[in-house]
Amino acid sequence: MIGWLSALALAVAPRAFGQTLPDLGGVADAPITPQMERRIGESVVRDIRSRDPSYLDDPEIEDYLGALGSRLAQANPGARQDFEFFVLRDPTINAFALPGGFVGVHTGLITMAETESELASVLGHEIAHVTQRHMARMLGQQQQMQAPMLAAIAAAILLGRSRPDLAAGAVIGAQGAAVQSQLSYTRDYEREADRVGLQSLQAAGFDPRAMAVFFDKMQRATRLSDDGSVPGYLRTHPLNTERIADAQSRAASLPYRQHLDSPEFQLVRAKLRAESGEAGDAVSHFDSSVREKRYASEAAARYGLAAALLRARRAQEADAELGRLRAIVSVAMVETLAARIKQALGDKAGASALLTAARAKYPYSRPLLYAQVGALEDAGRHQEALAANAEPLRQYPRDVRLYALQSKIYASLGKRFLQHQAQAEVYALQGSLPAAIEQLQLARSAGDGDFYQLSVVDVRIRELRAQHAQETKDLKR
Ligand SMILES: [Zn+2]
Repeated sequence: MIGWLSALALAVAPRAFGQTLPDLGGVADAPITPQMERRIGESVVRDIRSRDPSYLDDPEIEDYLGALGSRLAQANPGARQDFEFFVLRDPTINAFALPGGFVGVHTGLITMAETESELASVLGHEIAHVTQRHMARMLGQQQQMQAPMLAAIAAAILLGRSRPDLAAGAVIGAQGAAVQSQLSYTRDYEREADRVGLQSLQAAGFDPRAMAVFFDKMQRATRLSDDGSVPGYLRTHPLNTERIADAQSRAASLPYRQHLDSPEFQLVRAKLRAESGEAGDAVSHFDSSVREKRYASEAAARYGLAAALLRARRAQEADAELGRLRAIVSVAMVETLAARIKQALGDKAGASALLTAARAKYPYSRPLLYAQVGALEDAGRHQEALAANAEPLRQYPRDVRLYALQSKIYASLGKRFLQHQAQAEVYALQGSLPAAIEQLQLARSAGDGDFYQLSVVDVRIRELRAQHAQETKDLKR
């Protein structure tokens, strides 16, 4: 992670750090557009996905956070953009927003939250920092910020994510520390994010008291930590008793609202637990929870047990546990786990049949769709995989995972033109235009594209080149 960050920091350092922060935004500066913000966020997220070992590539957890986040964003009157959530396997309690509406969530935050409202309270607060444009306002210019400066800030946020010692020191030097110190939101911004976040929490139907409860929990956790270190979240979002009291008194003035957690909230937490540490330990943990009935949710305890057994290569027992799980909860996540168990038992046909039936029952579940197409492909049924992927590609033309699957299927079929064409769209959607153009050139020279296909590719190459030239110009401005 340090490698790319230092590269990014070096690239922007001469301009971004060559002056004192409050003076930024001289006459030459033009306002940064939402598209540029999005590009900067994309480039950071792309680097995280490809290079950060803690990036957790789990479409189910992303899907869950996306659904929770969009409920909160819809309840936030200032949210005009889409938010995209991604997960980092990191035990520290943290969440952070990047330019462009990308929100990173540490697994530690998800496991620390005991109710869905608690998790929602942190996401709502983070969304509010974005919608209130705090990052830009912190630097004293609401609209006038240079793109390189914003990129530097994004890099510093990431560096400070869990290793503040590395963040300020070695890599971006003394000026980096200046940016770092600017990254702590001030008391006023925290108050505003709490207020706006609480409003959306309430409007989206969550328990508004959860915010104060969770703040209190974080403060206790800080006091109890052995090395006295401050969790990442509290470092960039300083917490004091006044904030907790404010959250309490605001929630007290709101009508009481009980919120029933979604089954997915508990299943996601169980999945994270089942996949961390030693597989055998995870099995014992869930096994005793189930036997002693020590759980917040029986479904989650049984799901965790089945997932842990699968991980411990005890697929038969996992299958038996899954039967008991099915009797008490029906959600898409149970079906994808069932299919993974079937695959582990060597029953590829059974896994595909199960996923096809599950898709009819949960037609809007994207993770189920990826699993279905993947299972068909894995079973060597390439044409059926293509057929299953066709309509979703029209329906969700911005879904990177669908293009990645498409490219993989074409590769298995030996259709090189189509393989590279699909891969180009993966890169284009991830904001990596030179890599996308390179794939299109590979498609052109693959030799198996017809005249019509080649002219489509030529048009696309011209489009992407023009877009890339424009963005390069904007970034250097
Ligand atoms: Zn904050």
